[in-house]
Amino acid sequence: MSCREEQDFAGAVIDSLKFAANEDCITGKLALSVLPRLTDALVTRKGWLDCELAGYHDTGERTGKLGLHLRVRGRLSLCCQRCLAEVVFDCAIDSRLLLMPPGAEWPAEELESDDYDAIPASRELSVRALIEEEVLLALPIVPRHADCLLPVVVEAEIEESGPSPFAVLAGLKKH
Ligand SMILES: [Zn+2]
Repeated sequence: MSCREEQDFAGAVIDSLKFAANEDCITGKLALSVLPRLTDALVTRKGWLDCELAGYHDTGERTGKLGLHLRVRGRLSLCCQRCLAEVVFDCAIDSRLLLMPPGAEWPAEELESDDYDAIPASRELSVRALIEEEVLLALPIVPRHADCLLPVVVEAEIEESGPSPFAVLAGLKKH
């Protein structure tokens, strides 16, 4: 399947059901600076996301249904909630989003399924808004370094720092 590069990816608006029915596909880069809700959670606004959005016909249990296959790759700088330093998060989204036409019955299994999510079909779907929402959902709830040592280091310092400065002073006064 060929995927065309969309020059104005941030400004792209698609008719979602038509896009999926045509198995259309666009790729592009999205600057983090155009994603205000996301950058609120970031240490830096520099950088971008590599994105690909492809329409598809579901051939599984939901044959005939239309969906969007979204792939996003990018490196995000979050704030470690333990030591407050930067923690790098490699964003790697590979989601299938089932399009729900107006009035369609929402699939009951959608809430439990990890295979796909359902989103309302729209004739004017903002690609930027869709991706920002999906990236926000993919962020860790409490970002922190996997091996953040801060609390351990603090405890170790307290235990190993020997007598308190006051004890040392008391010792000096004796001489
Ligand atoms: Zn940390």
